Amino acid sequence: MKKYDVIIVGAGPYGIFCAYELIEKDPKKKILLLEKGNKISKRICPKRTTGKCINCNPCNITCGFSGAGAFSDGKLTLAKQETGGNLSELIGVDKTEELIKRMDAIYLKFGADPALHGVDNKEKIAEIRKKAIQADLKLIESPIRHLGTEASYEIYGKLEKHLKDNGVTIKFNTMVDDIIVKDGKVEGVITKDKDEYLSSTVVVGSGREGSAWFKEICNKHNIESVPGTVDIGVRVECRDEVMKELNEAMYESKLVYYTKTFSDKVRTFCQNPSGEVALENYTLPNGKHLTTVNGHAYKGDKYKTENTNFALLVSKNFTEPFKEPLEYGAAIASLANMLAGGTVLVQSYGDFKKHRRSTPERILTGNVVPTLKDAVPGDLSAVIPYRIFEDIVEMLEALDKVAPGIANNETLLYGVEVKFYSNKVIIGKDCQTSIKGLYSIGDSSSWTRGLSLASSMGLYVADNILGLEKND
Ligand SMILES: Cc1cc2nc3c(=O)[nH]c(=O)nc-3n(C[C@H](O)[C@H](O)[C@H](O)COP(=O)(O)OP(=O)(O)OC[C@H]3O[C@@H](n4cnc5c(N)ncnc54)[C@H](O)[C@@H]3O)c2cc1C
Repeated sequence: MKKYDVIIVGAGPYGIFCAYELIEKDPKKKILLLEKGNKISKRICPKRTTGKCINCNPCNITCGFSGAGAFSDGKLTLAKQETGGNLSELIGVDKTEELIKRMDAIYLKFGADPALHGVDNKEKIAEIRKKAIQADLKLIESPIRHLGTEASYEIYGKLEKHLKDNGVTIKFNTMVDDIIVKDGKVEGVITKDKDEYLSSTVVVGSGREGSAWFKEICNKHNIESVPGTVDIGVRVECRDEVMKELNEAMYESKLVYYTKTFSDKVRTFCQNPSGEVALENYTLPNGKHLTTVNGHAYKGDKYKTENTNFALLVSKNFTEPFKEPLEYGAAIASLANMLAGGTVLVQSYGDFKKHRRSTPERILTGNVVPTLKDAVPGDLSAVIPYRIFEDIVEMLEALDKVAPGIANNETLLYGVEVKFYSNKVIIGKDCQTSIKGLYSIGDSSSWTRGLSLASSMGLYVADNILGLEKND
């Protein structure tokens, strides 16, 4: 049987929540979920035992059931706007809030920790905000539900079983190569192995890993899209003591700064108290391999480290005639990989400012023991464009007023961190693209940047497919 009511490409949080909602509301629907990676029990990263990344293709950290969510820290950001994507711009704040509540309830049903961070400690948060204001930083408050890396894996495992038990057909190790379009309507998909699956409703949620692939699909089939923002920066790592006040009050402090020199927006992103810096691997449609950085934290004490990490990202928007933000980010990441011999670089902030290469010996003079052993001590300032370099320095100096010590020489910077969601797909309020029956949301569409909104969008798209949303 190769004809389905709905075909979903990509079993990330977005695809999972879309399938979940479809099958909950209409158990008779024939749903096919196609995923190029492995089922969750087979998603084994060799680095966890050998300590070395061997560049699996597809990468087991970013691909497979639950996508980039499986080994993510699993911080569900429950704020209805300003974080994790632009859903509220599309469907309004009230609808976004409703979807976030429903999405959160599903995570709780499948075993998420009921504890919420960032909702108590009002006095402490007010003190932090005061310091932030003095440093020209904007503090965005958000309730955070921390699933934790190991618990995320279990929750998504239960969701995989639930979908299968309820009749969703899931095909792993199946990469979609192309979509079939005729007379402006979608008719199905073609896999890399040349199998055809037919449906008049196709939902693409290929994530950041698959955003370059989907950009090619957009170009080929004239699916309307525009260059979006590209986020480039570094992963910062310091001792927990430096971030203690922020970690305890909020778990994740979202701080935004507009630089004095260039008026660029720089923000903190994905804070991981007692966490680890991690590698993230991408294979581009031209076969080129890229390694970037990310971070996560386990919930249980057993795996906790003594370091906090978070990303500092500079949001870059380009104007005519430039239309290739994805390639721009990829070029910077590949320069770092080139200097690091195929992996990522680490540098102390002191060396970064002096534009000199860090050495293992000099890194050892500080208190911070790097948690990412694969990173090669080097010179990130030889990789990062001057403007982004200045933005990072200004942001760290501002942050130092909120978390004293963060701008000390010993703070480690890993690079580069790039978010590949810079092909913004034009969609209607019902989330359909310019091709009838083709829906594209999640991180690959550039409308979301995190678990919470990607999962919420999955629910929303399902409701639209089922005709449960009024979008006039
Ligand atoms: C280490 C790490 C930590 C993170 N921590 C957090 C966090 O704490 N909080 C947070 O909100 N977010 C976090 N994120 C980001 C979060 O995981 C993503 O925003 C989220 O997973 C996006 O969901 P998605 O469904 O849109 O895409 P993804 O999760 O990327 O899933 C896309 C899926 O599509 C598959 N795919 C791609 N192309 C194809 C194709 N052509 N054919 C078939 N399948 C395809 C991929 O294999 C993948 O499984 C983290 C990410 C990483 C890597």
